[in-house]
Amino acid sequence: MKIVMLGAPGAGKGTQAKMIAAKYQVPHVSSGDIFRANIKNGTELGKKAKEYMDQGLLVPDELTVDLVIDRLSWEDCKNGYILDGFPRTIPQAKTLDEALEKIGEHLDYAIDVDVPDENIVTRMSGRRACVGCGATYHIVYNPSKKGENCEVCGDQLILRDDDKPETVQKRLSVYHEQTQPLIDYYAGQGILKSVDGTQDMNDVFAAIAAILEA
Ligand code: ADP
Ligand code: ADP
Ligand code: ZN
Repeated sequence: MKIVMLGAPGAGKGTQAKMIAAKYQVPHVSSGDIFRANIKNGTELGKKAKEYMDQGLLVPDELTVDLVIDRLSWEDCKNGYILDGFPRTIPQAKTLDEALEKIGEHLDYAIDVDVPDENIVTRMSGRRACVGCGATYHIVYNPSKKGENCEVCGDQLILRDDDKPETVQKRLSVYHEQTQPLIDYYAGQGILKSVDGTQDMNDVFAAIAAILEA
């Protein structure tokens, strides 16, 4: 099962990807998490990526594509994966398709979690991310039972720099320009499925599970 999650920043891709990964026993591969791990470890790549991320811009394809596609060749991905945050541009999508074609494989589904822009700012300003393990919460819709700390690892929860309202607006316009065209791209391949992402997260998940089990 090879799935790509589509949707605006804050639509709930990561939340759903984690639920799918847990239920179907395939890894959740998040390009944003890969970049944040590099930033945390102080790598050269992390330093370069952070400059773009802090401005709400996409990290250039040259720094992104090989990194993520290489991750898909790891042993844990042999039965599939949930890709979250990649591809984000048409060139990224084409490179992924070519890499899969070379090994005789293909994506099974592109799942678009559809949430209008009006809901996004509330989602993002309330998002809290764990500095330790990357788990995400929402102060209203999915609060941590441990308050300011992570339920999983106990580390501190923070508002990501790029989740501040100024940057969110920029990320939304970048999304509409560069990422939304992927919806038509995957529709053209016949693998696009859309779900209403404004529902409660368990209902969104039920809709996705129904697609995967159809
Ligand atoms: P969100 O889950 O809110 O959509 P992500 O964690 O996926 O955010 O991404 C955070 C930032 O990391 C993006 O705004 C962008 O700067 C960078 N990034 C993540 N994935 C990609 C990608 N595939 N291409 C370019 N930049 C990316
Ligand atoms: P993305 O990966 O698309 O950027 P996230 O999964 O991180 O989005 O979700 C963004 C924020 O919205 C998080 O704080 C998350 O807890 C919350 N959230 C996710 N899905 C829902 C939902 N269906 N209803 C309300 N809040 C949600
Ligand atoms: Zn944690």
